[in-house]
Amino acid sequence: MSRSDKGVLVLYTGGTIGSMPADPNDPESPQRVVDWDTFLEMTPQLDPKLLNKRPDHIGFKVDSWSLEPPLDSCNVTPDDWLQMAQVIYDRHDDYEGFVIAHGTDTMVYTASALSFMLINLKKPVIITGAQRSHTFLPRNDGLQNLLTACHFANPKRSKIPVVPEVCIYFGGELFRGNRCRKMDSEGYDAYFSPNYPSLGHAGGSLEVNEKNILPIPKQALQLRKRLNTGVVTFDVFPGIQNSHFVERMIDSNEIKGVVIRSFGSGNIPTAPKFLENFQKANDNGIVIQNVTQCVKGAVSLGIYETSAALLEIGMITGFDATPEAALCKLMVLLGDEDLSKDEVATLGQQCLAGEMSSSVYVQKLKEAGANRIDSKEGERKRLAPAEAIGGSWQSKQISNASLRLYGGEVNTETDSPVEIDVYINVGSDDELHHGLPNYAGSFKRRQSDGKFIISFDITTAAKALIQTGDRVSVTTKLNGQGSVTWQRAEIALFINETD
Ligand code: ASP
Repeated sequence: MSRSDKGVLVLYTGGTIGSMPADPNDPESPQRVVDWDTFLEMTPQLDPKLLNKRPDHIGFKVDSWSLEPPLDSCNVTPDDWLQMAQVIYDRHDDYEGFVIAHGTDTMVYTASALSFMLINLKKPVIITGAQRSHTFLPRNDGLQNLLTACHFANPKRSKIPVVPEVCIYFGGELFRGNRCRKMDSEGYDAYFSPNYPSLGHAGGSLEVNEKNILPIPKQALQLRKRLNTGVVTFDVFPGIQNSHFVERMIDSNEIKGVVIRSFGSGNIPTAPKFLENFQKANDNGIVIQNVTQCVKGAVSLGIYETSAALLEIGMITGFDATPEAALCKLMVLLGDEDLSKDEVATLGQQCLAGEMSSSVYVQKLKEAGANRIDSKEGERKRLAPAEAIGGSWQSKQISNASLRLYGGEVNTETDSPVEIDVYINVGSDDELHHGLPNYAGSFKRRQSDGKFIISFDITTAAKALIQTGDRVSVTTKLNGQGSVTWQRAEIALFINETD
């Protein structure tokens, strides 16, 4: 063993990988999770007492910690996540990395939760398990998964780059854990990562796809210890709008967060009574995040006006986050007592641990005296920034930008639409004309039927003019006969996080 090699800590939590038939004489009897000592007896390759004594020993120090008692992962709870996270936090500097032996059923939840609880992780945390255990089955995937996970967790020994992330290793592939879904209840390739490429691969040798892994953070490791378990997730389905399911759930005081698994790119039934439930939930301080029930792809809430009704009732987008990652993220964010509901909603839409391919950054615009443009006034209207745009990104990462006027109403005095010119960051004395580089576009709108979000696409100008940390002003001018009014305005930037 090289002296500087600190070895690996295995956190044993149970699952099929650690199960044996309840009756040792009957291999068909129901399987039961065994304790760590029994598991280690059946796994001499990891036994620290056998280091340098067996040719098939893994060849470096493997210490252990066990959940007491180890569990079928169906019975794992957020308290168990906390125990795992605490051990990794406390012993982070003592090892090259960590392996979690875990049941396959809820592995992606544990991976997701840990990815949000362990902030600024600098070491690999590799979660693995098995469809068939090596403890009693000669033909199995358990032993290879476990040994390979240990190799990924010890980059020094394996001579591979450090993957400072909570990963799932299974069936030859290393994935970002919070991007994974369990797709097969039997096959050895049980997981896949629909919206993010794999981080590595194990065949004859180990490979790490360095361009896909997160950078090693410079800041100190932190542990988010509190989780709010008042979070639920459900699928919308045809007919849900006629049931009282959502109404009852939202009326319960226990619920603080909802992950709604929508159709396609973020759609849900639009029956007004059904939508009212969400408005009410939002008014009651419940955070509602929209992810897709499609296996792959993202919701595009807020990019087009079609999904605007959902924005208007306060729903936030989960982009291409898995439902499991979105649920665990809300539990962690809502558990942080220092965050207000608005801050949870803001962070919910930002990529915190590589779980989403995009983040949205919003800059509110001041409302006072600036929520009306009127052709009669013939004047331009300047919407001053109420705050600076957050985040740390480059302008080329802006994939989409919108000016949103919530509760907007268009009144035209003729049948023709009005035209609204939008400029960003022009001085009060600058002359407005379409040749200005600050000109973001002209948008035609017809008489509106009630108050509704009005959204203008300002992507091209935003890419050229807006930078992280800026305070951006918007100047509007109305052409034609009529007026546009709104209740509140903001600029929303969609930042591509995979560039
Ligand atoms: N029920 C088991 C578990 O998740 C299944 C498995 O490990 O494959 O713990």
